[in-house]
Amino acid sequence: MKLESLRIPQPLRGFDAGDAQVFDVTLAGDRVEAIVPSALQANARGTLLSALVEAHAHIDKNYTVQEVGAAQGNLFAAIERMEKHRAGWTSQTLRPRMERALQDAWQSGTRALRTHIDWVQAEPPAALAVFEALRDEWRGRIELQFVSLTPPDVFADLAAGERIAREVKRAGGVLGAFVYRNEGIVHKLGRVFDLAQQHGLGLDFHVDEGLDAEASGLRSIAQLVRARDFRHHVVCGHCCSLSMQDDAVANETLALCAGSGLHIVALPTTNLYLQGAWDRTPVPRGITRIHEAAARGLRVSLATDNVQDAFYPYGSYDLLETFGLGVQMAHLAPAGEWFDTITVSPAKALGLAWDGRIAPGCPADLVLLAATDEHELIGPRGRQRTVIRAGRILEKTQ
Ligand SMILES: [Zn+2]
Repeated sequence: MKLESLRIPQPLRGFDAGDAQVFDVTLAGDRVEAIVPSALQANARGTLLSALVEAHAHIDKNYTVQEVGAAQGNLFAAIERMEKHRAGWTSQTLRPRMERALQDAWQSGTRALRTHIDWVQAEPPAALAVFEALRDEWRGRIELQFVSLTPPDVFADLAAGERIAREVKRAGGVLGAFVYRNEGIVHKLGRVFDLAQQHGLGLDFHVDEGLDAEASGLRSIAQLVRARDFRHHVVCGHCCSLSMQDDAVANETLALCAGSGLHIVALPTTNLYLQGAWDRTPVPRGITRIHEAAARGLRVSLATDNVQDAFYPYGSYDLLETFGLGVQMAHLAPAGEWFDTITVSPAKALGLAWDGRIAPGCPADLVLLAATDEHELIGPRGRQRTVIRAGRILEKTQ
């Protein structure tokens, strides 16, 4: 297959492009065979991306908003509502909504997806077995990863912590926790790090998901990574409070993060909805410091988070919509230069075999967008796409 006259955004180029902006790409079997500059540089017919990587989702919760109601910006009300709803979760109710999420992501061009799974007590949740079955069924289409999402206080019970870590290890997952202004946070995080180190697990936190400038979970995590010389991947999602802190404080934390090899994931849809006032026009919004992180070499990922549940009642698994919102919310310009936020950066955070840079020999897992320049990227027409997986065009099934 030959794909002609396409822009390949700079962060996705794994080859020497010289001055060229527009390329002809030849696929052979399930690989990219060759990339050459197009004869006509002025007439791009579209934009070529590597298949998308979803770094942070909750496929156990999605599509439940009709049953639980929207929480209108109140994170803790959303947590409470989902807690009540969770009591009734069974594999029969979980499976259809988890599958629906994967179908949506697959059709949108996603090649890998990491979901958090609510895990609030020692015993594994019903969603784990469903996840493991789906991971097998979807192998070769979407590479699936999971993170246990546990309140830090549960780890205070040493036996419960051990049980969770052992089960996460058995199932090939990542250990996680929700951290926001907890009392004794350093000690509690230390326990999570102990378990990760004893069991050889990566870590993925929900951290500082609020607009309280005092929230400093991110800094504590970065300090622990350094103090422990922690070698596995550490991912920190949200980090909203960073935007409310003084520049000096925030930049010091970001320097610590960058030096620790930590990955940051911003979740623009959910944090626009959950943070900021609801009794008047919201001014401060829930976004982390993407530019300041990039200035320190820390390229942030953008991810979807919640879809149609109490935490966020709208949305879909189309990462290009999330990207479009992130571009506008955080002034990511030129937009094309930030495409690593949904490809290369999450691929690194998730430790995928392919980092998503397009080069001869790389997998022919690609997304061909109608957008011919960066300004069209954000609209629905520019987002129209052809998904190519293993060198073949994916037929739309919905
Ligand atoms: Zn989340």
